[in-house]
Amino acid sequence: MSKQYTRVIHWFRRDLRLTDNSALHAAAQAAAGVVTVYVVSDWKGSHAWTGAPRQAFLSGCLAALEKNVAAIGGRLIFRQGEAVAELERLIAETGAEAIFYNRDPDIYGRQVEQALARRGRELGVAILGFKDVVLHQSDEVLTGTGKPYRVFTPYRKNWDLLPKPEVLPAVKQLTPPAAALASLPCPDLSTWGLLDAGTVLPEPGERAARVRLKEALARVIPYYSARRNIPMGATTSRLSPDLRMGTLSVRELYHRVANVAAETEDAGVRKSCQTYHSELAWREFYMQLLQHFPVVLDQEFEASWRGLPWSHDQALFQRWKDGLTGFPIVDAGMRELRATGQMHNRVRMITAMFLTKDLRLDWRLGEQYFMQALIDGEIASNNGGWQWSAGTGADAAPYFRIQNPWTQTKSYDPKGEYIRHWVPELKHAPLEHLLEPPEEGSLFRSPGGGYPAPMVVHRRERDRTLDMFKKHRELQGR
Ligand SMILES: Cc1cc2nc3c(=O)[nH]c(=O)nc-3n(C[C@H](O)[C@H](O)[C@H](O)COP(=O)(O)OP(=O)(O)OC[C@H]3O[C@@H](n4cnc5c(N)ncnc54)[C@H](O)[C@@H]3O)c2cc1C
Repeated sequence: MSKQYTRVIHWFRRDLRLTDNSALHAAAQAAAGVVTVYVVSDWKGSHAWTGAPRQAFLSGCLAALEKNVAAIGGRLIFRQGEAVAELERLIAETGAEAIFYNRDPDIYGRQVEQALARRGRELGVAILGFKDVVLHQSDEVLTGTGKPYRVFTPYRKNWDLLPKPEVLPAVKQLTPPAAALASLPCPDLSTWGLLDAGTVLPEPGERAARVRLKEALARVIPYYSARRNIPMGATTSRLSPDLRMGTLSVRELYHRVANVAAETEDAGVRKSCQTYHSELAWREFYMQLLQHFPVVLDQEFEASWRGLPWSHDQALFQRWKDGLTGFPIVDAGMRELRATGQMHNRVRMITAMFLTKDLRLDWRLGEQYFMQALIDGEIASNNGGWQWSAGTGADAAPYFRIQNPWTQTKSYDPKGEYIRHWVPELKHAPLEHLLEPPEEGSLFRSPGGGYPAPMVVHRRERDRTLDMFKKHRELQGR
């Protein structure tokens, strides 16, 4: 079969896999030779939106991809620097007639795509972007009048009705580019001048992602509705880092879950699959929100909540980051995050609400820290989650609905298993110290074992926070 192109470039970005990869599949179909490249970012030392845990996981995924590409006859080229300039150089070196890539939903990624498209036109090289990171792009799910959704439920209804793209076969063969083509080594933490934070990471790469997918389909997703709020144990799929790096395709995930539902008579399992699909819709809801309302990156989605007098007290912030607030469930979450680069969704909500409603710290501080610490750090979902918790976002918890960390513990970690796992000082503490605040007046009683007493009284802070929101509202004349 004759091919449209002699040689093209596939630019890997957040699609680090060979299976069900839209742009790579299309490139392999269209061209006799496909040069695969990853352009490594060239910042050094620190970055506002990432940190050592995610970069270490990314490096591992790239090393796995390099092997996988080699196993089918290709070679993954690493370059470092500004993407458009590096790709232009590679076009000149290879004589490529086109660049294939999967679209990035993030603002920065889209700006690079626009710049690349402009340069491609000047050079006479086809620049071909594909939908891959999402099932539905931001312009596909719109209201009847063609406007973006601001609320999740109607968005999800519409999202649900749209036919889902099919899974594509894995690319089975690539041809190696000319041996002379230079490549940097696969990056590691030293590439960005980062030190190993000692984070215990999941195994990186496509093969490991597929093992996790299989496990989740068999043992987690069928019971998801009932268990997903319990932070201890395998209660959620833990696939977000794979969706973040693209070691797993969201199309395949969606369809495999749909198959579980189709093959069962059990209404509970079907409901669980539906709930799981709904979480994938949340991911895309937040992505479209960020695209249509980029202002959320700096400001509150709900304009009337802009200008709230959030605190920036660094000492309070540090205790929260260190997991030393004296609120066992909050500290367990923060320590899980530091140890693993991951945190259960329920605990993300609890820790985020504690930061914003008990400490009244600016949600942007927490948002940035999560981006630096999480291996699944996703600007859109993270921003959405933080604004939800702060009460300032789309579909946010209204400001007067403030979760009580103690009540949350009783509901979701009633035996203190999650807390004892992550806070060793509390391993032998009586259960009531994990579930109840100390008696009023004995605020400074610590449960012992070197563990601090609660740094604030929740009830009191709750009232102060309600007051802050009310006063702001009055100032706005509402
Ligand atoms: C304050 C805060 C910050 C968050 N930051 C991130 C982030 O940086 N990256 C990220 O991927 N998710 C983020 N989330 C959403 C959610 O916590 C994680 O997606 C989830 O914990 C990942 O674990 P899982 O794969 O086991 O999820 P599962 O429960 O198995 O869900 C399956 C998938 O659905 C998606 N999903 C689930 N819940 C949400 C949600 N609330 N919003 C958007 N997508 C969702 C994820 O892609 C997830 O992998 C955040 C939530 C909060 C409250």
